[in-house]
Parts: sequence; C-alpha cells; structure tokens
Amino acid sequence: MVNKDLALFVRSLMPDTKGKGDPDRPVSMWNELDRLRGFPEKTTVVIFRTRGCSWYKFSSCSMCGYFNDTQDVTEENLYHQIDHVAATLNSEVVKVFTSGSFLDPMEIPDQVRLYFYDRIGSKISKLLVESRTEYIRPERMEELKKIGIPVRIAIGLESANDYLIENSINKGSTFRKYVDAANTARKYGMEVRTYLLFKPPFISEKAAMTDIIDSIRKIRDLTTDVSINPMNIQKNTLVEYLWKNGLYRPPRLYSLAKVLMDGIKIGPEVISYPTGGNKERGVHNDVFDDRLLDLIVKSSLNQDITELELYMESLDLSSFWNMIEEEDRAMVQVDFERMIRQALSAVPEI
Ligand code: SF4
Repeated sequence: MVNKDLALFVRSLMPDTKGKGDPDRPVSMWNELDRLRGFPEKTTVVIFRTRGCSWYKFSSCSMCGYFNDTQDVTEENLYHQIDHVAATLNSEVVKVFTSGSFLDPMEIPDQVRLYFYDRIGSKISKLLVESRTEYIRPERMEELKKIGIPVRIAIGLESANDYLIENSINKGSTFRKYVDAANTARKYGMEVRTYLLFKPPFISEKAAMTDIIDSIRKIRDLTTDVSINPMNIQKNTLVEYLWKNGLYRPPRLYSLAKVLMDGIKIGPEVISYPTGGNKERGVHNDVFDDRLLDLIVKSSLNQDITELELYMESLDLSSFWNMIEEEDRAMVQVDFERMIRQALSAVPEI
C-alpha cells in the first residue's frame, strides 16, 4: 500500500547528511504535563538518539523530519544514553521517543531495550513508548509486561482512511495493520495511544476535520486515548516543500478546537498538545490567539471542554466557517492522484 511516485519524491527530499550531536546523550530530554495516569502530572520526555525509523530506508512519512536527528550510534552509545537518563530522571512517568520505533530491534537492539527496562523500569510508575505497528509483537509485549508497571504504546495511525495513509501521509502502513497491532497490545494488557495527524497534505481543512472525527469513531474501542497532532512543518519534508511553494497551509486553531471538542464527545480520551502552535509552521489562525491555544492544552489535560466551548461560543466565527467551506469547494479533488502529480511537478526544485 505505497504510492511509489510519492514515496520516491519524499525520499528525494531527505538529505544524505546525518545529524550531529553527542552520541552518548539523548537528542533531548525535558519535563511537560500529560495525563497518562488519568490526571495531569509532570512527565519526562526522552528522545533517544538512534539510527532512525526503518521506513527511512525507503522513504518517510510526508510530514516527518525526525531523520534530521538520526546518526550512526553504537550499542555502547545507547547504553550511555540510558545511563544519562537514569541519572537525571526526576519524575515517575516517562515517555520514550526515538526518531522511529522504540520496539524496532534494528533501532534499539533487544539487549539495549532490556537494559532500559532494568535501569529505568524500577524507577518509574508509568511508561509510554512509541512504535510502528510491525514491531508490536507478542515477544516484545511479554518483555514490557515483565517491567511490572502500566505501559502505553503510542502508534502513529495518522488517519483511519487507507487512501490518505497511502496517497497523502505516505505511512507505508494500513488501517488493518493498526487494528492488528492495537489488538496485540491490548491482549497483553498494554494501553494504546493513537496519534492522528490533523490536516495531511492535498486535502482541505474541512476534509481534514471530517477525517479526524471519522478516524476517532473507527478506533474508539481500540485505543485508550487519541492524540490529535496538528501539522507542524518540519525541515526537508514533503509538507515543507509544498508549504514553501504556497501549496499547503497548516490548520487553524479554530478547526483544531472544534475537532477536539467533537472528538472528546465520541468516547476515548482525546488530547492535543500542539507542537509549534501559534507559529507560522504550526497550527495558527491568521491572527495568533494565545488564549485559544492555552484552552486547547488545558482542555486536553483536564478532559473538560467547558471553558473552551464558552470561549468558542463567545466568538463570531460565521465568516471563518464560510471561508472553510469556500476553501473546500475550491479544492475539488476529482482526480486525487493527478492532483498529487501536478502539485509535485508544478514547483521548481528547491
Ligand atoms: S513512522 Fe514515525 S518516525 Fe517513521 S517516518 Fe513515519 S512519522 Fe517518522
């Protein structure tokens, strides 16, 4: 389920150069608020420096620029990174990111993963790890169970629409694979966090809103929570290429607020902690609105949309929603694949 032309074009935008940085240290580590235990609390986020996602060998998701952080690290480097985290960790809840999948043995070898569970697992009460669907396998679920703490596995589904997965997001996966992986994780007692991408390329903002709500409906019984990730334009990606040439605009905060409010009413916990919010490359209205961004985060953390609804009701958004309708009508996608080809060929090399 890969659109070969799209995948090759995305690949052509990826630089051959590797990221720079101390291979014995994670890319980054910070504390933020999340609600992995059902209430807002301090949560440590670690991004391990790795060789990166297996999908990078062939292509990349159309919005993903994490390859910019990857480099050739040894097993020894990974042990040092884990030691650094163990020595500096100061919270009970940890989210582990890599520039790919923590459960991919080519990225984090089995013995390194076990070392992490041993060094960090005993210090914390809750863990989240990210993985592509293909690495959510029974033997790795057994390993996670042995840590003895609740674990949430975050899966980047992005959309439950296979057509978008293939022709817009370039995920190299399918909805069926997500369903199987989520069921495997749940069978072993794992929680699931599902990432949905808000406003992938080539579709209108209205279509993107519909896609988020449709996706939440399809996955509500499979996932513990849903994280709506509004597009954040990363370097050397297809989305950046389109954006630089005026062929893409990140979603507006008003639309994000609406899908968050509608999504929360559907069933699972729905959160959104926008990266790059109120910046040109991230979710933003034409006039930046700090209050709205704060309310989106606050509603996510508390799973209470009362204030957000009141704020949205206090605004006259009729002309905004008219504009969203107009924009949708202006983007008549009678031949989706042709539109992709035209978009990719209409712009000069940059
Ligand atoms: S699967 Fe994740 S890490 Fe890999 S290319 Fe896609 S978004 Fe990036």
